[in-house]
Amino acid sequence: MRLTTLAGDRIAVQTADGVLDKTDLLDLPTGRGHLSRMRQVIERFDELAPVLRDARGQRLTPEELVFAPPVPDPSKIIAAPVNYQDHKSEMQERFQIDDLGVFLKTPSSVLGHRGIVRLPYHDRRFDHEAELGLVIGQGGRDIDPPAALGHVFAYTGLLDMTLRGGEDRSTRKSFDTFTPMGPWLVTPDEFGDPASADLVLRVGRHERQRANTRDLIWAVPDIIAYVSSVMTLCAGDVIATGTPAGVGPVVHGDEVTLEVSRVGALQVSIRADDAVSAPTRGAGRGPVPPPPPSDSD
Ligand code: MN
Repeated sequence: MRLTTLAGDRIAVQTADGVLDKTDLLDLPTGRGHLSRMRQVIERFDELAPVLRDARGQRLTPEELVFAPPVPDPSKIIAAPVNYQDHKSEMQERFQIDDLGVFLKTPSSVLGHRGIVRLPYHDRRFDHEAELGLVIGQGGRDIDPPAALGHVFAYTGLLDMTLRGGEDRSTRKSFDTFTPMGPWLVTPDEFGDPASADLVLRVGRHERQRANTRDLIWAVPDIIAYVSSVMTLCAGDVIATGTPAGVGPVVHGDEVTLEVSRVGALQVSIRADDAVSAPTRGAGRGPVPPPPPSDSD
């Protein structure tokens, strides 16, 4: 199944015949004091799946598809640092995920397909990181690797937008709009093996990152098992699995596209209209990214 959240906390399912708005059929409570409808769909998926799978629903035109973050209110976003060998090399990192563990991004950093990533500073470098994202279905604690994929609700495209420098990772990656996701959540029956997904990231027409998740240092089951040994996973939690080589800077006016096999293309625009001078002094410290690629070719 391919589903997402549209503006107004509406639930849409993509079928071979187009996109169906299922919101009214689901009859879920919404508004103050309630989880997002997607969080409720994930928690009650076994019960609601027949409604999501049937042919009913309001058919939406392409113009009516205003995407929101697929999970608007995850209880947490967990991210993997240095989880591809080629990215470790390009960053001149001594350590990788099995040295570092994981880090957190704020839930408020989520953004939907065709959203605007807002760069906060005009005097610092910001990079794209193309990643396979996943959303937890059944939560849990101390999940064993062989059982881990059974806890995945869906896979999606995810951009781990990053301020370069010496500030803490949780700061550099948690600005509002710094976790674009989507466009669709694809359930495991349709997504298939998470160890064989292609990722391709372009800035404008220039390809910057191309990788396959078979090259992850910690594969998806290892990440889930480790994370759940640290913290209780909840339905709707998001995990960013790490980025391959090719990270590069983005600036005002850029258009970034991340294609993930079987998910589709996540597009965002980069803007710096309200950028100010950075109040922290991390410039020139922290992991060393490669020089900006020349886009003249
Ligand atoms: Mn990352």
